[in-house]
Amino acid sequence: KELKKYFPVHGSKLFEKNRYLKAVDGISFDVQKGKTIGLIGESGCGKSTVGKAIMGLNKASGGSIKFKDEEVTSFNKNKMKEFRRNVQMIFQDPYSSLDPKKRINYIVKEPLQIHGIGTPKERMEKAKELLETVGLSYYFMNRYPHEFSGGQRQRINIARALMLDPQVLICDEPTSALDVSVQAQVLNLFKKLQEKFELTYLFISHDLSVVKYLSDEIAIMYLGKIVEMGESNEIYKNPLHPYTKALFSAIPTEDPTVKVDRIALKGEIPSPLNPPKGCHFHNRCPYAKKECMEVSPNLDGVANNHKVACYLYK
Ligand code: SF4
Ligand code: MG
Repeated sequence: KELKKYFPVHGSKLFEKNRYLKAVDGISFDVQKGKTIGLIGESGCGKSTVGKAIMGLNKASGGSIKFKDEEVTSFNKNKMKEFRRNVQMIFQDPYSSLDPKKRINYIVKEPLQIHGIGTPKERMEKAKELLETVGLSYYFMNRYPHEFSGGQRQRINIARALMLDPQVLICDEPTSALDVSVQAQVLNLFKKLQEKFELTYLFISHDLSVVKYLSDEIAIMYLGKIVEMGESNEIYKNPLHPYTKALFSAIPTEDPTVKVDRIALKGEIPSPLNPPKGCHFHNRCPYAKKECMEVSPNLDGVANNHKVACYLYK
């Protein structure tokens, strides 16, 4: 709730003292058990920072993070360790997230070792079982990461993350470094694992088709704020925010007879160091009017669970 992550900016004469980069600027959302929320946005919008703040990899600057009614931001070291068993993160780059000097066998078992769980035999059994669950044979367990393809490495990362029986996976663009054909296989795997283990996902991506496939709800971020949020079907059928419409315009439609309200974006995404005043989107928005340039619109409900931050819907 109202999650914020500000980074202090140093060493630039352009910016006065105590200047902050507001990477995440007061965003709120819920994820229900066994469901997926997709967090969408262009690079630099703050979506990865949200994932890292939840994991405590970046300390939140403000707001609240709750896991089953417990306040995560006030956890001590032991509680944080327990939390990290329950909530695991999967990163974008399957090439750099595995230690090249360690065998797969070691890499997958390591989380249990760190947490002191199970006997060596039990750890081995669990590693074998999970590698098979993600579609890899345990015959490969003595190999090194470089002997695997990108898709296989991401499967290894997933198996490793599942070793601690987490309830939530935060997936930060887990398929964007993969070939398109491999992406689909890994997405199917995420779906299958969600059913099998009743996992809850926060799925971060810039790719709308990836998020559509997996998400029950989606939230669209622009320069540190959520600009639109709702049930996935509703947002895809009826996108309201001009930025969401612009993002959707960029994906080809399956049915050429469907008329899409296309918006071409002007200009580049502004620097998060110096976002436009008022609605952060106003300098690229074809509908911007005077009030848009002065005060930032709130994220308000327009229909069942559908919220948008735009003066067009006031
Ligand atoms: Fe465009 Fe104004 Fe809506 Fe922002 S608030 S998206 S500038 S119409
Ligand atoms: Mg990112």
